Amino acid sequence: MSKLAGKKALVTGGSRGIGAAIVRRLAAEGADIAFTYQRSAETAQALAREIEGLGRKVIALQADSADPAAVQHSVSATVERLGGLDILVNNAGIARGGPLEQMTLEDIDALLNVNIRAVVLATRAAIPHLPRGGRIINIGSNLAERVAYGGVSVYSMTKSALIALTKGVSRELGPRGIAVTLVNPGSTDTDMNPAQGPRAEMQRGLISLGHYGKPEDIAAAVAFLAGPDAAHVTGTSLTIDGGQNA
Ligand code: NDP
Repeated sequence: MSKLAGKKALVTGGSRGIGAAIVRRLAAEGADIAFTYQRSAETAQALAREIEGLGRKVIALQADSADPAAVQHSVSATVERLGGLDILVNNAGIARGGPLEQMTLEDIDALLNVNIRAVVLATRAAIPHLPRGGRIINIGSNLAERVAYGGVSVYSMTKSALIALTKGVSRELGPRGIAVTLVNPGSTDTDMNPAQGPRAEMQRGLISLGHYGKPEDIAAAVAFLAGPDAAHVTGTSLTIDGGQNA
């Protein structure tokens, strides 16, 4: 498992959930890793020690995705401290919902800033550093394509924005040999969407396989898209949702 030996990856929102699984998987495949977090300093440090134990370089960066300067800094700190950047995984995201008429301006702005603007800004900051063979992998949601229940309209909109961003940037970077892809998870057991949470049974009823996905399911797709086997995959998305959108 050393398909990513010598590669340097930045994973946003890597302290918990899907991001932490991506950090572990990319490190297991041989990559050096920088990852960001917002609040979970202790969890982030523990994960960093675990990755160090694998013999990889690792940096845990406190960087609020809602803060443009912090997003920019996380990219430049990665380049400086790891000596380059080959793989950017835009994973950090938040879910705030409820009926649209009850959503606050603060919630709407937070969703737009973290789920869309931070992805645009991290991507813009990374582009000058990415070499031929580089990868940008965005984490969207299966709600980008099918919104099967209420209370998630703005969240879903932020994720469908990533479809066009992924396609557009893939056009810009294709000539440089850089691939840009989108992974759309379905219901995945994390703090954001626990498999035993209040809305879990409703979601499970929509999943063909009948159960939630694991963060490792998403990390496996990211490892594939980051690696040499996906060299000709760009401008497209991969939905990992147990058939929820079928
Ligand atoms: P979690 O809430 O479990 O973890 C979120 C991670 O992102 C944490 O590491 C958190 O850091 C970080 N994060 C959150 N806000 C910020 C911020 N403002 N700045 C920096 N880091 C931040 O979420 P998931 O692992 O479930 O979700 C990961 C991605 O997958 C998201 O983009 C989400 O929208 C998407 N997704 C998840 C699904 C699910 O069912 N779980 C389904 C479809 C998509 P900290 O620990 O410091 O708070």
